[in-house]
Amino acid sequence: MSTTQANKIEIIKAPTTKINEVDFENLNFGSVFTDHLFECDFKNGEWQNPTIKPYAPFMMDPSSRVFHYGQAIFEGMKAYKDDNNDIWLFRPDENIKRFNSSAVRMAMPEVPEQLFTEGLNQLLKLDEAWIKKGLGNTLYIRPFMIATGFGVVANPSDEYKFMIILSPAKAYYSGEVKVLIAEHFSRAANGGIGAAKTAGNYAGQFYPTSLANKEGFQQVIWTDDATHTKLEEAGTMNVFFRINDTLVTAPTSERILDGVTRKSLIDMAKREGIAIEERSVLVSELIEGIKDGSLKEIFGAGTAAVVSPIKGFAYKEEYFELPKIEDSIALQLKEKLTNMQHKLTEDPFGWTVKI
Ligand SMILES: *Cc1c(COP(=O)(O)O)cnc(C)c1O
Repeated sequence: MSTTQANKIEIIKAPTTKINEVDFENLNFGSVFTDHLFECDFKNGEWQNPTIKPYAPFMMDPSSRVFHYGQAIFEGMKAYKDDNNDIWLFRPDENIKRFNSSAVRMAMPEVPEQLFTEGLNQLLKLDEAWIKKGLGNTLYIRPFMIATGFGVVANPSDEYKFMIILSPAKAYYSGEVKVLIAEHFSRAANGGIGAAKTAGNYAGQFYPTSLANKEGFQQVIWTDDATHTKLEEAGTMNVFFRINDTLVTAPTSERILDGVTRKSLIDMAKREGIAIEERSVLVSELIEGIKDGSLKEIFGAGTAAVVSPIKGFAYKEEYFELPKIEDSIALQLKEKLTNMQHKLTEDPFGWTVKI
């Protein structure tokens, strides 16, 4: 792995700030960006010129490899500010590790952990005014890497750009969503790229999801590509089922993204004494669970929404609705996790990291 002097980040400050134009109470997720970004280029086999500079469009050659062959990976993280104005990240090492395993899968260079961390921390400090205090206020962090190499020859690029951009976000409650269980389309396959956080996985989901939207479903629950009988992910989130008082989620695999929220909820449940199983859940089990009343909850888990409750699902033209419950485990875990992330309660796991 090549390295660079991560401590020599050049900083070019924006002459003015856009922050006064932003209505922090009414933010649409991922649509407003802070004053600065972090950038570093991979050229001649090494990462060079790490720079923090004003957020702005930039020029690229039309033949850049990312436009043609989709070498593009990203991460999603959040920063939080506590009552003492300290800035916190949640398990950033997990995102950096996953970013680099996505890079390996997409034949892209890894970003040295120190460069990633230094770039992110310095960027957060410069734009710290954009991180608002209080439960529900977060700064969404989007690190990404694209292939910038010249020419449409179908080979991995030899040049890349790594960037981090920041977007203030309000905690959002997705409402209770209805989902369609995939019978034909697949998100991922064995030997494929489902475990990588790469742009094409999202592009491939848009069309089947738009078909589901037309039928009144907000998301698709993805099933295994071979048999379409095992439940794997909900949209771009990992998925959990509560059967009686046991939480069940599919084990991670080549087809399932190893979500930080997923693994945190599993560890929290274990600590709380909530029964948790990592095993495949069959579509038939859900339908039986609705019929005999053992299926209590379904929810998605991911950084953006944290936990997203699902109120019903359709399978083979039939719609099944979950019973209303008072004691949602999903919402209890969500509250505990967000309180921990915002430093409102103690963090017995050592997951929160002060920058
Ligand atoms: C990002 C992502 C998740 C959630 O991962 P977190 O680390 O919890 O944000 C789940 N599934 C897919 C497909 C994803 O891209």
